[in-house]
Amino acid sequence: MEEIPKSHPRYASLITRERISQAMNEGLVHETGLIAHGRGEAYDYLIGEKTIPPADNAEKVAAASLLLAKKPVISLNGNAVALAAKECIRLADAIPAKLEINLFHRSNDRIKKIIKEMKKQGAKYVYGTKSDACIPGLNYNRSICDKDGIYSADVILVPLEDGDRCRALRNMGKKVIVIDLNPISRSSKTASITIVDNIIRAIPNILKWINTFKNEDNIILENLEKNWDNNKMLKEVLSFISKRLNSLF
Ligand code: ATP
Repeated sequence: MEEIPKSHPRYASLITRERISQAMNEGLVHETGLIAHGRGEAYDYLIGEKTIPPADNAEKVAAASLLLAKKPVISLNGNAVALAAKECIRLADAIPAKLEINLFHRSNDRIKKIIKEMKKQGAKYVYGTKSDACIPGLNYNRSICDKDGIYSADVILVPLEDGDRCRALRNMGKKVIVIDLNPISRSSKTASITIVDNIIRAIPNILKWINTFKNEDNIILENLEKNWDNNKMLKEVLSFISKRLNSLF
């Protein structure tokens, strides 16, 4: 791998690309994961590659929801593990929440590799291999999950989810928190709470809010959830992007 000089103006973005590409070579990320990453990068460019106020707000409400949940689960795919494995483990420990691997291009080999990587990074138990339940309304491979994990969860945090699965989980009555840099994707429009931020910044910021709220009264957290308007927030994101683009030149 060619050394990227720290002085390079796009150093952080290039290092992230290297991580994704390396994870693909190790069999953790599917090749289409690189394309999804590219789409994410494009939207990250539009928001200025930082956590914008509507995203910080969504991360705050997501933390409240995760703390109020009875059975919270963090659902992970190859890209999420390549970019934020340790951060997801820290978040799961703090809530506490279960971790489950769920892949768009499902293969037992990749699930095993990802779980091995998560354990190497410090995860105690990772769901995703029992495959003893199905999410209604999806084709078989997309629907498989663990009964004690995603299937029975009340709140699910899914970084980088696809629209169909997000809809199917909502149809099961679950609260779905999505991290997606694309504010106009189907997942973003379907989720209960959409976090338009890079997973690399979003997970540590949700953890920061979890720590802030750890001893907070449930009524305060419930009010945050109750007053959340996801469509209003998505409009704020689009307005932020449009203002930013108009002020560039
Ligand atoms: P949908 O099915 O919801 O309409 P899609 O077809 O774009 O969306 P995918 O192809 O599964 O769904 O794409 C995954 C999404 O993940 C993309 O919208 C992309 O913006 C987003 N994404 C990629 N990398 C990151 C990242 N590092 N952080 C946050 N979001 C990301």
